[in-house]
Amino acid sequence: MRNEPLVMVVEDEKPIRNFLRVSLSSQGYRVLEVADGRGAVSMSASHMPDLVILDLGLPDVDGIDVLREIRGWYTAPVIILSARGKDHDKIEALDAGADDYLTKPFSVGELLARVRVAFRHAALSGSVESPSEVRVGALRIDLVRRKVTIGRAEVHLTPTEYKLLVYLAQHAGRVLTHGAILRHVWGPTRENETQYLRVFVANLRRKIESDPATPRYLLTELGVGYRLAGDDETEADSRGSA
Ligand code: CA
Repeated sequence: MRNEPLVMVVEDEKPIRNFLRVSLSSQGYRVLEVADGRGAVSMSASHMPDLVILDLGLPDVDGIDVLREIRGWYTAPVIILSARGKDHDKIEALDAGADDYLTKPFSVGELLARVRVAFRHAALSGSVESPSEVRVGALRIDLVRRKVTIGRAEVHLTPTEYKLLVYLAQHAGRVLTHGAILRHVWGPTRENETQYLRVFVANLRRKIESDPATPRYLLTELGVGYRLAGDDETEADSRGSA
């Protein structure tokens, strides 16, 4: 039997740390607790955890600096859990290499869902062969035939809409900043044209969402960017509405 995944929790507030340990342990994860930034750097090097949950407000070193330092060699998922909820804080953390960002106060259900998504994404990107198909809920993208379907219905996309959807799908569950999406889909000269991106997202939603005003797949991270829902989230949705 293989070892359960090791999650390193970096958090200086003991009650939150305890809560995270109990929540994660109940799901079968092993938990390594660290209370400061220097400890986080040395423990991530010595224990090579499978995932890191990182608070930004630490007593010695800022969490962003911890992230920048460990990203030099640490490639597994890092989820930020912070009281800082401003857009520029999120963008800074995502650009420094965070996989996801949760603002305190958080729900344990949401945190555990993000952890599952991060593990799945890490498993996908770690595989040698790139997948020929991406599935999120009823949405299916056949990367070989360049065919997009929702359930049994084929969705017809323009080449740019398709490129945008594939980029989001290959990072399903992760927040992608406006700048990252614009750079990837349109190139560096369009990097700041957020309005341009908004138009394409609206068009894409009209084609893939049953109710574009309350999207289930293509989610807005206000002021930061967009995220294609992870499989867990759309599963939870369909259960809830069934
Ligand atoms: Ca703190």
